[in-house]
Amino acid sequence: MASRIIDLHTHSLASDGSDSPVALVRKAMAKGLAAIALTDHDTMAGLEEAEDEAARAGIELIRGIELAVRDEFGELHLLGLFMPRLSEGMHAAIDTLQRSRFFRNQAMLDVLATMGMPMTMDEVCEHSGKVAIGRPHIALTMKSKGYVPSLREAFERYLGWGGSAFVPRTLPSPEEGIRLLRGQGATVALAHPFLSKRMTVGRLDAVLGEFRQYGLRAIEVYHSSHDMEQIRLCIRLADKHELLLTGGSDYHGANKEGVTLGAGAGRLRIPYAVLEKLREYRRSRGLPV
Ligand code: AMP
Ligand code: MN
Ligand code: MN
Ligand code: MN
Repeated sequence: MASRIIDLHTHSLASDGSDSPVALVRKAMAKGLAAIALTDHDTMAGLEEAEDEAARAGIELIRGIELAVRDEFGELHLLGLFMPRLSEGMHAAIDTLQRSRFFRNQAMLDVLATMGMPMTMDEVCEHSGKVAIGRPHIALTMKSKGYVPSLREAFERYLGWGGSAFVPRTLPSPEEGIRLLRGQGATVALAHPFLSKRMTVGRLDAVLGEFRQYGLRAIEVYHSSHDMEQIRLCIRLADKHELLLTGGSDYHGANKEGVTLGAGAGRLRIPYAVLEKLREYRRSRGLPV
């Protein structure tokens, strides 16, 4: 039997992916994936739909979420895997995150208007799934209005860190973010550690040591942006800090070019054993799998 593969980092229309949760699950099934985690930014709104479709399709759906936390150089991302049903505490936290998104989006639209690129929040909303709205939706609106030729250019010139219309957003501290997810019973992973250009091995070593104390239990070793050297480094540090390994493509559908579900930039191949190890750990702690 061909070995089964999985993808534990994906986005849907509930945040900045372009596929509905149902379409995402169908694509995963068509690709023969054994399991996917839906990890939308700052929302769990797509999970029930995805779970229902996964049950029909006969693939496993891991309930996830991706949160950004503050970092001295910008932001780092966390993945909460095996999230339970939306609790009151989580609902309140998500509400706060959505509010910070709203103010930040509006502030960026104000800056862009002064630069001769007017857009309304309603227009941006039309380019989103109307749940967690962010910079990719502003980029899509800019492209549709002819302000930029591509999403890439929208980020490079205007929306990315250091871009001329960039406005930072209020983010939780790493400790707050990790404790929030951990308090829900999730297994918390540091996402794509080397996606940030400023990340060094020494810094990652320090970050993992600190974050582990707050409840971090895993590191996203396999990711579309990681080369072999970075994968090796992540595995070495996971070993040192006694962290589990996870992996995913960070698929965003048409909103992120060059990233394929299950295969990342082309050669990503995450074995089912990665999921089994996460489950084994959770079972040993009496946590639901
Ligand atoms: P936000 O959540 O509003 O801060 O927007 C961040 C999202 O924008 C990330 O999750 C990525 O999906 C996307 N993104 C970040 N940088 C780029 C880039 N350089 N080009 C295209 N998309 C990007
Ligand atoms: Mn994204
Ligand atoms: Mn991320
Ligand atoms: Mn992501």
